[in-house]
Amino acid sequence: MIPVREGCFCMRSRGWMALLITVVILAGIAIWLARPSSSLDEAVQASAATVRPDAVFLIIVDTLRADRLSCYGYTAHTTPNVDRLASLGVTFTRAQSVASWTRPSVASILTSLYPTQLGLVEQPAPRDQIFEWREKRGQSSHVLLPNIDTMAEIMQRMGFFTGAFVNQPALNHRRSYQQGFREWFYPVTPDTVIQYDPEGEFTAQGWPTVKDADRGDYALVRTFDVWLGQRAQLPKLFAWVHLLTPHVPYRPPPPFAPPPPPEGSDRKLFKSARYDGEVRTIDDMVGKLLDSIDRHVGLERSLIVFTSDHGEEFHDHEMHGHGHSLHREVLHVPLIVAGPSLPPGRSIDAYVRTIDILPTILDLAGGPPTGHEGMEGTTLAKLIAEDGRIRSVYSEAMLYGSTERSLIEGEYKLMYDQQERACRLFDVSADPDERVDLASEQPAHASAMRRNLESLHKRLTEDHRQIRRKYYETANPTEREQELQRERGLEALRALGYIGD
Ligand SMILES: [Zn+2]
Repeated sequence: MIPVREGCFCMRSRGWMALLITVVILAGIAIWLARPSSSLDEAVQASAATVRPDAVFLIIVDTLRADRLSCYGYTAHTTPNVDRLASLGVTFTRAQSVASWTRPSVASILTSLYPTQLGLVEQPAPRDQIFEWREKRGQSSHVLLPNIDTMAEIMQRMGFFTGAFVNQPALNHRRSYQQGFREWFYPVTPDTVIQYDPEGEFTAQGWPTVKDADRGDYALVRTFDVWLGQRAQLPKLFAWVHLLTPHVPYRPPPPFAPPPPPEGSDRKLFKSARYDGEVRTIDDMVGKLLDSIDRHVGLERSLIVFTSDHGEEFHDHEMHGHGHSLHREVLHVPLIVAGPSLPPGRSIDAYVRTIDILPTILDLAGGPPTGHEGMEGTTLAKLIAEDGRIRSVYSEAMLYGSTERSLIEGEYKLMYDQQERACRLFDVSADPDERVDLASEQPAHASAMRRNLESLHKRLTEDHRQIRRKYYETANPTEREQELQRERGLEALRALGYIGD
């Protein structure tokens, strides 16, 4: 009996309580609506800023020049799917890679450190032996040291389940880019994707997959769709997709391949047209990735960062490919960031850098706003709010032993070759194609920028010494011996004057 009476009492109390709560809510709404509209706008903005994504996707397209995308002003063809992503988020129109080729560039994206700090800059070579030298000496390092925090490791600590889909042999797990990923997929043939098992045998990804990069990429995109279907129920998901299609050789499939060139036409132009076909192919894949994300997670619940590791030269400055120079055609990469708390369809013209990607992702995904201690990049979330601030941009890491480095300050860009002790200076606002060298006209300006560049490089070199020292204090004897041999090689080069201190 007592339980029944108590039950009746509770039912009556709950009824009164519900009525009271309803009255309070209605009164609150009436007061809220009576507030000035500016306060309402502020409240909505404040609430939007706290919306965190359920899933984070980093999409890197290897070798993608920003200026071949229609959302970056290209008119020879359109890239409707990348444009669609741009309409959903913020497009950084002057994003710069900090390196000229894959391995150091991607390492910098994943760690927010410069290649010199990571030890991923090639050993310098005598100018007259520059191509042969690489074969003899190799690179200064191929490995991301385990004591350096990567994006995946930090995201994992933040509670994200991490997966990678990487079609690029230069980034396979032997290079240690897999740190922090729970699952790692890559194509071993143009149509076969396997999952790397950290406990099992590794099957090397070979050159055939590069020659058929578009097929490998399509296979990876299909795998990503299946994986996302299985993993979308997890509360926090982070995936990195790295596609290779625009990289040489340019073999766009139908319907994106250009018609054969007329007899006697310029082969260089045809090469560029085939590259355009690859860009249209990769745009098709981006559309499929966006469809997968929308179907399994929801675009409105996802933070998507789209970028490239470097561009590609088409004889803009006499060279073809990448890794040979630090001109705009190599360093200017797309960067589009779309997420639940970001303004759609916005463009920002300030210089930003690929090392800013990691702290931006951490900031927008709920991590510390300034990223992680020791990172060189800074979050772009504040820049999106304030707009217009121009940063200085430092880039380095050439292939074939070149020691050229570049620095953008204000509207000027300095390119400095340490071996040659030679500067070139460009006014990138008046001369965006970097054609007119102003170094002899403005020697004081060039010298001041060179001092800034050298001072930064000296600090980064010392940082790497510290990072390496900390790691090798705990490394095994074999690793330590390898490192000592490398150090002896560097000392010999210093003695010959090929490396500055
Ligand atoms: Zn690359």
